[in-house]
Amino acid sequence: MGVSLSAGPRLASVVDKAPTVATLCSHSSLQIFHGARAEGLPTIGITVGKPARFYDAFPLARPDRFLSVRSIKEFERLTGELRETGAILVPHGSFVEYLGAEEFGRLDVPVFGNRAVLAWESDRRKERDWLESAGVSMPRLFEDPEEIHGPVIVKYYGAKGGKGFYLAKNRAALESFRPTGPYVIQEYVLGTRYYMHFFYSPLSDRGYRVGHGSLELLGMDRRDEANIDELYKLGAQEELLKAGIRPTFVVTGNVPVVLRESLLEKAFDTAARIVERSIELFGGMVGPFCVEGIMTEELEFKVFEISTRIVAGTNLFISGSPYSDLMAPGLSTGRRIAQEIRRARAEGRLNEVLS
Ligand code: ATP
Repeated sequence: MGVSLSAGPRLASVVDKAPTVATLCSHSSLQIFHGARAEGLPTIGITVGKPARFYDAFPLARPDRFLSVRSIKEFERLTGELRETGAILVPHGSFVEYLGAEEFGRLDVPVFGNRAVLAWESDRRKERDWLESAGVSMPRLFEDPEEIHGPVIVKYYGAKGGKGFYLAKNRAALESFRPTGPYVIQEYVLGTRYYMHFFYSPLSDRGYRVGHGSLELLGMDRRDEANIDELYKLGAQEELLKAGIRPTFVVTGNVPVVLRESLLEKAFDTAARIVERSIELFGGMVGPFCVEGIMTEELEFKVFEISTRIVAGTNLFISGSPYSDLMAPGLSTGRRIAQEIRRARAEGRLNEVLS
């Protein structure tokens, strides 16, 4: 038996009803609804304002029902109805971002995954403690600029969505940096970025075993980041600045990638350490998460961030990926979430995947 997440009385609203998959209409919601439908689960799309018309264009991914609020601040008003319909909220980046991690963590509706992870992921220092204590290599942090001997990236606290970064080629270039708030200086890692879409199932007892469950790799992408990508990043910065343009890392799209097969062992080892440590620290991460890092030319993998829920890069693989095809044809992360809910329900183990 695995770890029971502290869902407590919240679970009462789902045990005797057919589970319904509910999420905010945005980000990866088409994939989540499509996956739930493929597994025979009913779906609810939550919208701020009127539902967007484009859902009508995708009959296999349109939610069965919409529930709408005028502003995200009114979300609380829906919780009674969501409980009555046996809804399970599936978090995604926009859902948690718009509502706020604290507010999301307080919602009185069952959530897929362990909501205790929110406190660890939303605070960059706690996230670093978690990953470093798991033995994962991360970009070095500089307390003292005297120690800088190469390129650095300056990140403001609370910077989100790739904005609020400053790049400096070296210590001298950092001297012209005029901070406008609290920040950290981090080693700028030169290499190739990979965003690896993992899934941890506490229910599964086969495959790549970690803890009481197993670890799956469902896909991999790289983000297209305006206006920095392909501008030969550091070199272009001065030219951009001359033109009055500050580099940003705002994500504008995603491209599929695969990793050299011999590097997969490193990828799994990194993800397994992160899961094992999460079990020790807060009862474990459950379901999809993304390990975001840079492979250097020495083939060292340095992790700059993890996202502990479905990421938008998985939208590339609604009909399967070069990795998920090796487990089950056509398996998306959205569908994998629905499978886990169905299995937990059938085996009376919802307390292990919901919180
Ligand atoms: P999001 O919330 O969209 O995930 P964020 O604002 O939390 O983004 P990060 O994910 O930390 O920011 O970084 C955004 C981008 O900056 C990365 O996708 C990567 O391209 C680049 N980046 C971050 N840290 C480093 C680093 N140490 N070295 C090189 N590039 C980095």
